[in-house]
Amino acid sequence: MSAKRPAPPPEPLPGVVDAHSHTWDPQLLPDRDAALARAWATGLVAIVEVGCDLPTTLSSRDLAAREPRVYATAGLHPHEASHLAEQREGLREALDGGGFVGVGEIGLDFFRNISPPDAQIEALEWQLEQARDHALPVVIHSRDADEECFAILERWVRRVGRYLGPDREVGMMHCFAGDVALAERYMDLGFLMSVPGTVTYPTNLKGQDVARSVPLARMLVETDCPYLTPVPHRGRRNEPAYVAETARFIATLRGCGADEVARETAANAARLFGFTLPAGGQQP
Ligand SMILES: [Zn+2]
Repeated sequence: MSAKRPAPPPEPLPGVVDAHSHTWDPQLLPDRDAALARAWATGLVAIVEVGCDLPTTLSSRDLAAREPRVYATAGLHPHEASHLAEQREGLREALDGGGFVGVGEIGLDFFRNISPPDAQIEALEWQLEQARDHALPVVIHSRDADEECFAILERWVRRVGRYLGPDREVGMMHCFAGDVALAERYMDLGFLMSVPGTVTYPTNLKGQDVARSVPLARMLVETDCPYLTPVPHRGRRNEPAYVAETARFIATLRGCGADEVARETAANAARLFGFTLPAGGQQP
């Protein structure tokens, strides 16, 4: 089976939001407009397109400028953290110029250590300051760095407080892969927990536990496309439309309607990133 061949769009799920996509990725870029068309046809009402370095940050911003239902974030991924010196000014200028709803994808990845840990910590801490300075929420990637990442974010939140307002979270834990106890600590800190397509994998019992336990009022759904394709499309390239499969699977786990998962997670994404859903997008 070809990993790049797109599957037919899933059954429609009106009102769902993909809280984390990378349609700038070379696997998706040639097919970007068609993938967006499939997403809207599936019922998606918004997509958060996430930058991982300066070029992909600008690509995300440009897409958001021409696609009213796409929202962009600006950030340097932990894998790219060793490029902070060359990209710092460009990222700051981009953020100053506006057109972004968040700062990310930022964080720590001690699984692969593609950038040295010290560089990752420096890039994360600098970008947390940018988020605060620009009054934007953060999109956090944490892999094999549970305690280090939590400690940095906890220290930061204690210092800056709920800088987006008392009713708005300060960020999202993208592709959250920790356990229920860690999810609770992050929710206490003011983070939303984002569930990716890997929750549909039969062996991912920990992810399923989290998806069952986290209140819908604190949950997001995301694709992280072109990676982490949910069942039944696993093995193919991922794309925003498939977020509907993840929402449907979560609904099955929780014994509720998929429309409820779509509606609540969409409202959370709109609140976190400060955008407005289309009229009717939040209706049952
Ligand atoms: Zn990502």
